[in-house]
Amino acid sequence: MREILHIQGGQCGNQIGSKFWEVICDEHGIDPTGRYKGESGDGSFDLQLERINVYYNEASGGRYVPRAVLMDLEPGTMDSIRSGPYGQIFRPDNFVFGQSGAGNNWAKGHYTEGAELIDAVLDVVRKEAENCDCLQGFQVCHSLGGGTGSGMGTLLISKIREEYPDRMMLTFSVFPSPKVSDTVVEPYNATLSVHQLVENADECMVLDNEALYDICFRTLKLSNPSFGDLNHLISATMSGVTCCLRFPGQLNSDLRKLAVNLIPFPRLHFFMVGFAPLTSRGSQHYISLTIPELTQQMWDSKNMMCAADPRHGRYLTASAMFRGKMSTKEVDEQMLNVQNKNSSYFVEWIPNNVKSSVCDIPPTGLKMASTFIGNSTSIQEMFRRVSEQFTAMFRRKAFLHWYTGEGMDEMEFTEAESNMNDLVAEYQQYQDATAEDEEDYDEEGDEEQYEG
Ligand code: GDP
Repeated sequence: MREILHIQGGQCGNQIGSKFWEVICDEHGIDPTGRYKGESGDGSFDLQLERINVYYNEASGGRYVPRAVLMDLEPGTMDSIRSGPYGQIFRPDNFVFGQSGAGNNWAKGHYTEGAELIDAVLDVVRKEAENCDCLQGFQVCHSLGGGTGSGMGTLLISKIREEYPDRMMLTFSVFPSPKVSDTVVEPYNATLSVHQLVENADECMVLDNEALYDICFRTLKLSNPSFGDLNHLISATMSGVTCCLRFPGQLNSDLRKLAVNLIPFPRLHFFMVGFAPLTSRGSQHYISLTIPELTQQMWDSKNMMCAADPRHGRYLTASAMFRGKMSTKEVDEQMLNVQNKNSSYFVEWIPNNVKSSVCDIPPTGLKMASTFIGNSTSIQEMFRRVSEQFTAMFRRKAFLHWYTGEGMDEMEFTEAESNMNDLVAEYQQYQDATAEDEEDYDEEGDEEQYEG
């Protein structure tokens, strides 16, 4: 078995993480007490349980327990998870929390308060890892705009990288947007986190609150979207992204295969994810789309969980997962159709850079759905947005004392800023690169041009 260890940190991380578990418990037929209640007989039994060990441990009495570690610097969010619908399914020892809070300060999460609690978290992580037959890697849920998920989350990621250098690290990272939050220092926290994620994570699923808000407001017509509404989109996407890891199938069946297909250059591992059909909470039962409609929507910038328009860049690679009972042939035809009609939006120097697969089991409440993971150079638009907000404040050193007061050096801000700007420049470089450049490169040995 190739197990994944799930970690959720901070308010946002814990909220989206527990939604994720609710959704996948439902898909695998696991009830809130951890018992399998799915229907055998129609064959769903095998599909639901065949790879259950990827995310769940089997405890005595035939109970399935999420392989999940929950951490926070204050008890509030975890208290409400514990008293929520699936609160009893988690292993009580795996709740690790402090009392101090991080006050939306990355430095508190990364260097002071969080650093004090990190060993307690690592102990639980180690215990879970030791129980695995063959751990494939970790997935971390967190926001980048606050203090705990962001600062302590990236501290944990770097500690895990140190201790498990050959395991994969996947993150579900929520990027901040002023449309959803009113804490002014979020661009600082996010930039400091990106600096870490570039170096220490293998693959990052970008969940951008700006895009999530826009989807709720414009497409779903919710006049005042709540975190619950945003998180409904996130949990649907997380379920779709992990579907090929959880159910039997060929494409992207583990974290490393997913990475190999999607990442042509190691630093460029920030993915745009899309979902179709988009639904608001409780409304999914009314929506039924055809394969052409699903395909069309899935590629649409309005369905992307990241505020960047793919038509402003080019796809290096992409993967699509269709779910439900459908013809694989029709899926392949529709996908090829999109690529042929839009060939200029795919770099021509990576042939066959779009892969698709079909998983028989649809998400709960839908007949069919599709999830999209794209490595698009247009994602630089989102990084630029955060970078501009960062620079506006940093130029005047506004709010810096909150960070230096925790012992941080201004240098780390400067480095984080330039690392993110470099990332933007690298996306731009590959966006402009053509197959002809590649030939020049061979002929003239112009190495500088392609330095990564
Ligand atoms: P932490 O507890 O210190 O990690 O701080 P938070 O997780 O509250 O981080 C604040 C950032 O996360 C802000 O950008 C918020 O908009 C965002 N955020 C907080 N809770 C949620 C949530 O439940 N869903 C989403 N999508 N974003 C959240």
